[in-house]
Amino acid sequence: MANYNRRDFAKLVVLGGIGYTVFACGEDAKKEKSDVKDEVPKMPELLPKNVQLYQKADAEYQELAVRFNKRFQQSPTYIAQCFTTQGVADAVKFARFKDLKVVVKSGGHSFEGFSSTNDGLVVDVSAMKTMEWTSDHSLTVGAGCILKELYDEMLPKQRILPSGSCATVGIAGLALGGGYGFFSRKYGLTCDSLQEITIVDGNGNILHESGNSAILKACKGGGNGNFGIVTKMKFRTYQAPKFFQAFRCKSYKLDTKRAKELLQTWFRYTEKLPKTAFSAFVLNGKTLTILITSYSDDDKEVLQMYNALKAKSDKATIGSKRPLAKALKTFYGVQHPIYFKNACAGLYKDFAEIEGCIDDVISKVISSRGLIYQVNTLGGNINSTAAEKRSVYPHRSYPYLSELQSYWDKPSQEASRLAAFQEVQEYFYQHGIRAHYRNYPDINFKDFQTAYYGKYLPELKKIKQQLDSENRIQHPQSI
Ligand SMILES: Cc1cc2nc3c(=O)[nH]c(=O)nc-3n(C[C@H](O)[C@H](O)[C@H](O)COP(=O)(O)OP(=O)(O)OC[C@H]3O[C@@H](n4cnc5c(N)ncnc54)[C@H](O)[C@@H]3O)c2cc1C
Repeated sequence: MANYNRRDFAKLVVLGGIGYTVFACGEDAKKEKSDVKDEVPKMPELLPKNVQLYQKADAEYQELAVRFNKRFQQSPTYIAQCFTTQGVADAVKFARFKDLKVVVKSGGHSFEGFSSTNDGLVVDVSAMKTMEWTSDHSLTVGAGCILKELYDEMLPKQRILPSGSCATVGIAGLALGGGYGFFSRKYGLTCDSLQEITIVDGNGNILHESGNSAILKACKGGGNGNFGIVTKMKFRTYQAPKFFQAFRCKSYKLDTKRAKELLQTWFRYTEKLPKTAFSAFVLNGKTLTILITSYSDDDKEVLQMYNALKAKSDKATIGSKRPLAKALKTFYGVQHPIYFKNACAGLYKDFAEIEGCIDDVISKVISSRGLIYQVNTLGGNINSTAAEKRSVYPHRSYPYLSELQSYWDKPSQEASRLAAFQEVQEYFYQHGIRAHYRNYPDINFKDFQTAYYGKYLPELKKIKQQLDSENRIQHPQSI
């Protein structure tokens, strides 16, 4: 979650029409074309209204090659800028014809550069930005929409989707790996609101999936660049709250003992938070920001937590109850590419799980320039049995998600930043922390597939075999 105090983290990112009928009614899954793959791949017809192919010499290529993480500056052989689902299907068929691997890009915010490549074809769906409402307040979006575009569409209609806070993150990459944010403890993960998808498989077939479809289920937590390219997503939306309020407690020049005490207190009080509240513990070097947010008048526990932490902090502020659209903008973060390394630092059940290594973790964070350790609250309705059955997100019983972050200005700073980062990851690993969030990948995770997908890995391997037996669609941590 991109949570940050604007001043301290100023340079950082921390944190239509009615009756749309593209999806097959009354069917769980329907293929638009035969799923029999051409044994000898044929060159597809590439119509400019569907797809444009670019190579290095093209000016458009240079623009489309940019990713949010400047650490990755890859040069794919081709970039296929797709405008329609047919264009995506044709681009995949072209990749088969040329025997190139396919990498998928929507918002371009992958922590580890998984939406580009040096030797294949990038299917870029970022221009697919259609948005269509149905009369039941569901919203169907093209896979190229980014979060601020969604909020701009939904909030004037007093609707929300539980999703992330950073403006330029793509809804596709976020929802296909789970997706969480300020509203998730009440409304679940972003993927829990996903009702229907259009997806192109590794042979270029177009599929529409809804209801109890196993492919739809696999896309709820396991869909990032693994076995298909999602081009459209239909989401349920919810009545937006009337206001949004942020509480902050800050502490400076912390030593390990005091930071640990504050973390313990934070864990104790977050257990009692209502589902309408969210909190993040953000230790940036020796400075700690604790953020609590709420959008309900029932804020007894929020105030209890705020007061308990205020008593132990150097400074505390209660923000005013602001209109949602205005309040969310303060969490939009940096919107241009930057150098960074972010990764999951584990999902936990409680403080006891990290107690044995937390002194080492905090000492390292406090003594390392630019290293941030953040713990976010999940829990609430994320931990729903009904949602569990319909998705492959395996970590619902973990109410805490932690992450490490580091940001820098020049490539020469990278090596030392990564070394400190890896040292902290190693403390957690040695202590038995093994569960990780798919959307916060780390190229160094051992046994990453189990860490991301847990008991759902065999199910996902089956879907991979079904949709992409040639392993056309791939990235360094794909299935
Ligand atoms: C600044 C920042 C803030 C963030 N905040 C949050 C947050 O609040 N909550 C949260 O849950 N996560 C958050 N994230 C993590 C975010 O969810 C992931 O980075 C997500 O994968 C980004 O999606 P994207 O489309 O922007 O990225 P991309 O780089 O385009 O794609 C990411 C991955 O998804 C795959 N993919 C993309 N599009 C498709 C598609 N159409 N079909 C199939 N696979 C696809 C790609 O192949 C790649 O593996 C944040 C990330 C950043 C950098």
